[in-house]
Amino acid sequence: FLKGKSAIITGSTSGIGLAYAKAFAAEGASVVINGFGDAAQIEKERAALEATSGAKALYDAADMTKPDEIAAMVARCHAELGGPDIIVNNAGIQHVAPIEDFPADKFEAIIKINLTSAWYLIQAAVPLMKAAKWGRIISTASAHSLVASPNKSAYVMAKHGIAGLTKTIALETATHGITVNCISPGYVWTPLVEGQIPDTMKSRGLTREQVINDVLLDAQPTKEFVTPEQVASLALYLCGDAAKSITGANLSIDGGWTAA
Ligand code: NAD
Repeated sequence: FLKGKSAIITGSTSGIGLAYAKAFAAEGASVVINGFGDAAQIEKERAALEATSGAKALYDAADMTKPDEIAAMVARCHAELGGPDIIVNNAGIQHVAPIEDFPADKFEAIIKINLTSAWYLIQAAVPLMKAAKWGRIISTASAHSLVASPNKSAYVMAKHGIAGLTKTIALETATHGITVNCISPGYVWTPLVEGQIPDTMKSRGLTREQVINDVLLDAQPTKEFVTPEQVASLALYLCGDAAKSITGANLSIDGGWTAA
């Protein structure tokens, strides 16, 4: 149902972002993938997206800390694919430390990549969406847009910011056929999370099962990871006609985390 539409997904060379790109491509959208990684691997993913969608797939290396590169990515999408009809603010990084030990450069990077980049991408895309009288703006927030955890001051601050930005732009675009929403996952099974398990097993002397249930899934009542595909399904739903009245929402997909 997305044939003829284009989507930019930031931070889509892995994890949740790549799942969004695959889901949009499976519905026929042309996509711009973005993020860092091994060039050959990225090219493989890009080609696979094209094969899936039967439409173009571009890779753009825009660094989310650089507003001019974000604007250039939007201009490139407009010129080569049309739109953008859908944008997904998804790029994100994490650093965990108590405030007194939190390095300022890590703080600045998290705010730039997880929050400020979304403002610039939305600013560049909204005029094009208004002209097209249709648009879908989605951001990957987090359970940390609603609740906090210690030692994640920058991340929690950025994700709460995404929730506020979502509501504001939803109000500004409400009569233009544009919806603006954020999705707030709990713990999602991505390569990033999986990669942390062996180290935590070693450093805390725990079994794999203990790390998963008592450390990672401590806050998640279902004791199950959310999958990237489940998050992508929700984004796909937001792009459909059935969701045209959903705007300014922060949708939890967190196994009950924020109910507790
Ligand atoms: P991931 O590390 O697999 O993906 C992050 C992506 O962002 C990668 O493609 C990476 O290359 C890209 N990226 C990093 N810095 C960038 C920069 N400066 N410019 C452009 N791209 C950059 O992580 P993920 O788990 O898929 O996370 C994706 C989003 O989901 C993030 O915003 C994260 O905060 C959010 N999230 C993740 C979880 C989880 O449990 N995995 C839970 C809630 C929210």
